[in-house]
Amino acid sequence: MRRRVASAVKPNPAHFALAKLEDLLQDRLFVCTQNVDDLHEQAGSKRVVHMHGELFKSRCDTCNRPPFRDTDSYALPAELPRCDCGGRIRPHICWFGEVPV
Ligand SMILES: [Zn+2]
Repeated sequence: MRRRVASAVKPNPAHFALAKLEDLLQDRLFVCTQNVDDLHEQAGSKRVVHMHGELFKSRCDTCNRPPFRDTDSYALPAELPRCDCGGRIRPHICWFGEVPV
């Protein structure tokens, strides 16, 4: 549901302003956001740190498989998607009560 909702949102002028500033300052600008959407990237930012993860990525809750791009919207699956290792696939975001990684 969160992916469906976030997919319908577009970057606002602030996102575009930061992307333009990044073009100007290059690596002297550090964009670190608590947002889990990809609006900064849609606006053109290239070096964004998502301290609470990224909604359009998933990861395994068991193994060290790197997070991967995932835009699927699971409609309350009877069985959660599984990794090759058997672990559960979950959104690559930090839920309330979890420590950002
Ligand atoms: Zn795994």
